[in-house]
Amino acid sequence: MDVLRITPRGFCHGVVDAIRLAQEAGQTHEGPVYMLGYLVHNAHVVQELAQYNVKLIDLDDRFAGLEKIESGTVILTAHGVSPAVKSRAMDRGLTVIDATCSDVYVTHDLIIDLVDKGYEIIYVGKPGHPEPEGAIGEAPDHVHLVSSTDDVAKLDLGAKHIAVTTQTTLSVWDTEDIISSILDKYPDAEVHNDICLATQDRQEAAVAAADECDLVLVVGSSRSSNSRRLVEVVRDIKGKPAYLVDTVAEIDLEWFVDTKRVGITAGASTPARVTREVIEFVEAYEPAISAPNGDDARG
Ligand code: SF4
Repeated sequence: MDVLRITPRGFCHGVVDAIRLAQEAGQTHEGPVYMLGYLVHNAHVVQELAQYNVKLIDLDDRFAGLEKIESGTVILTAHGVSPAVKSRAMDRGLTVIDATCSDVYVTHDLIIDLVDKGYEIIYVGKPGHPEPEGAIGEAPDHVHLVSSTDDVAKLDLGAKHIAVTTQTTLSVWDTEDIISSILDKYPDAEVHNDICLATQDRQEAAVAAADECDLVLVVGSSRSSNSRRLVEVVRDIKGKPAYLVDTVAEIDLEWFVDTKRVGITAGASTPARVTREVIEFVEAYEPAISAPNGDDARG
């Protein structure tokens, strides 16, 4: 099969930094070392960190997760946490390693600064994801999470100053409608697009490559927001088939019938090793060409 290797793909700077911090902590810190949730949203990364003595506390509630740790070191994940979680970890006497991505901290700092100046913040993000939870935790009474135009319709903000910010791993395309509905309702709102450069670059490359392929495979975990967005932008903007696979084993060969060229990209938390296995498998695969009567021509 002809494969177009889409670039950029795979690890971003935030993921590289977080993994390096976690590996160092696992090898150098005394006592048990834990990550408070998935360090980055990829099970392969989490499994590999176990070899560096870093254990996973897999609870959505970060406070409940902290209660499970008696002593040792806790690593805060790349998505960031609220200041209350960080304080609680320190109050429990744990050594805290903060692996929050610097791009996520840009949003936290923006929220702190604007709330200090009297703004109410509308945060465009996905409910239940740790990144909005951490960012909103900077000023819970002044940050309002929206994930749809319906949510915007329900907002009732009397404030004079309103600002808009976004989760880093959304897509410019799927925030467009929400932001324009916010501006219809609050025309003077200040819009800060905080989708990170790594996310944007990977999405733009996938959308551009889709023109040259019959379908696009995104290697990444279903937990990974930026990986899921890569699938969505190809489907929604280019109308091309796109599938998310965590490993080679998730590839459905039916997808390749009548396919000549496959574009392959990877989410920002997907190890290169896993992507390479998918690329090698697809390159070695000989696709079936359906005969005019619809049967597999090879059969
Ligand atoms: Fe940071 Fe963006 Fe990577 Fe998330 S996807 S870790 S925000 S660079």
